[in-house]
Amino acid sequence: MQASAQDQARALHLREELNRLSHAYYSLDSPLVPDATYDRLFEQLQSLEKQFPELLTIDSPTQRVGGAILEDLNPVEHVVPMLSIRTETDIEDSGAIKFDTYVRSELEWSLTDPVVDYCAELKFDGLAISLRYENAVLVMASTRGDGQTGEDVTHNVRTVRSIPLKLSSHHLAVPALVEIRGEVYMTREDFSRLNERQASRGEKLFVNPRNAAAGCMRQLDPKITAQRRLSFFAYGLGISENWNTPARHSELLQAFHQWGLPVNADHQVVKGAQGLVQFHRHIAQKRPTLPFDIDGVVYKVDERRLQQQLGFRSREPRWAVAHKFPAEEEMTQVEDIEVQVGRTGAMTPVARLKPVFVGGVTLTNATLHNEDEVRRKDIHIGDFVIVRRAGDVIPEIVRVLPERRPAAARAFCMPRLCPSCGSELKRDEGEAVTRCVAGFYCVAQRKQALLHFASRRALDIDGLGEKIVDQLVDQGRVNTPADLFALDVNYVASLERMGDKAASNLIHAISDCKNTTLGRFIYALGIRNVGESTARDLAAHFRELEALMHCSEQALQEVGDVGPVVARSLIEYFSQPHNRELILALVAAGIVFAKLPSLPAPRPGVAGLSFVLTGTLPTLNRDQCKLLIEERGGKISSSVSKKTDYVVAGEQAGSKLTKAQSLNLTILDEPSLRDLLGLPKE
Ligand code: NAD
Repeated sequence: MQASAQDQARALHLREELNRLSHAYYSLDSPLVPDATYDRLFEQLQSLEKQFPELLTIDSPTQRVGGAILEDLNPVEHVVPMLSIRTETDIEDSGAIKFDTYVRSELEWSLTDPVVDYCAELKFDGLAISLRYENAVLVMASTRGDGQTGEDVTHNVRTVRSIPLKLSSHHLAVPALVEIRGEVYMTREDFSRLNERQASRGEKLFVNPRNAAAGCMRQLDPKITAQRRLSFFAYGLGISENWNTPARHSELLQAFHQWGLPVNADHQVVKGAQGLVQFHRHIAQKRPTLPFDIDGVVYKVDERRLQQQLGFRSREPRWAVAHKFPAEEEMTQVEDIEVQVGRTGAMTPVARLKPVFVGGVTLTNATLHNEDEVRRKDIHIGDFVIVRRAGDVIPEIVRVLPERRPAAARAFCMPRLCPSCGSELKRDEGEAVTRCVAGFYCVAQRKQALLHFASRRALDIDGLGEKIVDQLVDQGRVNTPADLFALDVNYVASLERMGDKAASNLIHAISDCKNTTLGRFIYALGIRNVGESTARDLAAHFRELEALMHCSEQALQEVGDVGPVVARSLIEYFSQPHNRELILALVAAGIVFAKLPSLPAPRPGVAGLSFVLTGTLPTLNRDQCKLLIEERGGKISSSVSKKTDYVVAGEQAGSKLTKAQSLNLTILDEPSLRDLLGLPKE
């Protein structure tokens, strides 16, 4: 079949578009679209050319490696070309199986031949470079460029600390000439540090670590590169002279390691397709914990003899394949920006997105955190944006594509009134968050408070989800968490999406949640700034709800990490009559707290006396010390005075110790404190 005029036009359009995108990506280090979009267009052109070979041109992007070289840097010819790698984007196991089948058929092996050994590696998301060592000394470093000609980046490579300027021949002799190929990359931590610095200087932000690494490597001023920490992994060989090259790729990596080059430890020699499948799964799981970005894994035939047999085709070797993970970044459009009312009245702008499949799920929303964030990222309604979803991280809009902004795009404005209750919104000075201060009178906040009360780490009421809470509140049946305990099974069964069984389960779950702990209960109240661990600390310290409700701001600050802000929130919460009524109603409904472990009896010589802690003790940390003293009836005070009975001083004790000495107070180190408290010696 012959290509139609339409196919011809499509091929031309794809070539032009891919060339435009490649130029921005490779030459300007400034991608215009996410990689997944580029890859899709690339695959479309590839399959069109496969179907109609007459459409293939020698300058087609499918026949070339990388991009043009920068004129400012000197060109370097690669004696052994630096190629690309064929990519398999198939999901799960099929990529590995397909590659193994392909290798075996190219080798003309039958089922009776042995399994192929592969060296499986990470696919680092950085920039390929070639390092030329003569007599073990680094003499030249170059980028891949178009595969035949790269750019001289020796000045910059010298600033990369993990690249040895001289190879070590301590364990293994270094040949007179050897070219090492590998990837320069930037760790995620160094990337965020770099972007923070760029932002604080009002300079251009980098889109991702790969982009930053490429930008830094192609700097003209090595001083700038030196400030931006780059890293390196070696993974391949260029030209070499007078070297009995190892028989396997994995042995090559071992040699690099012995010469002092960084080789990533996650590579593995595996057997056949099954080995590759397992490696792929293992790395997919490990990926979020790696300190740098990878976009897949690379499978290489391990035996170099077989590699030679398989050879190359246009831009890639036949003996290697990159098996990419599903894209973590995709492009989509912001259809609207709505505000969501949170439990504490915080207004969170949320982008409603045109559904897009990214990181393994379909995304329809992305939180924009607050008004300033929308402004900082300059997100308009109607904009084309890049969204990212990596591992369990909350999906986010990474950036806007300003050149694609439609004429009808609109800026976002924070509403003046609460979309739920119509109250006026407030944004305090110095605060990023706009709030509805109607509190409990705001239906949205009421619903959120109920959901929080029922959440797993609070009172854990299984089955009380959003849909049910909406109905309970909208029908006026439940206004506060205490109302939950008055629900009857017949009414619950009449709600939408509820049957008799589900209703009876929910009523049981509500009844079961009455037996809880004081810590969970405090957390369930949803007091602003009081998270799960603060709630637990408060419970351990006060032991009784009454004691917490009636204590002073100062007494609150004696608890773990409770500072003035948290103490103020607690005081404000308990001073509101409706909050106190709620607590009474909950207790009346039958909420009981599990008994806390009993305290040791007050200890003579400790009970009633005041202690001040300063410095770091060898084994006991500050919270443990406090607890141990308080359990025995002692009091902890934050400042030293004549009334202080003991000052417990550890290493790096500060002015409190000096003051105690000047007041002639008794100073305890850890062994004497242990003695006093009746604890075993450490
Ligand atoms: P590639 O990046 O997919 O694969 C080849 C490269 O992988 C090698 O050159 C090397 O640098 C690297 N690599 C990492 N780990 C390796 C290992 N262990 N062993 C061997 N090599 C390893 O292919 P490519 O031809 O360099 O570039 C295509 C990539 O660039 C695609 O991911 C594409 O999406 C992206 N791109 C994006 C745009 C855009 O506009 N967003 C434009 C052009 C290209």
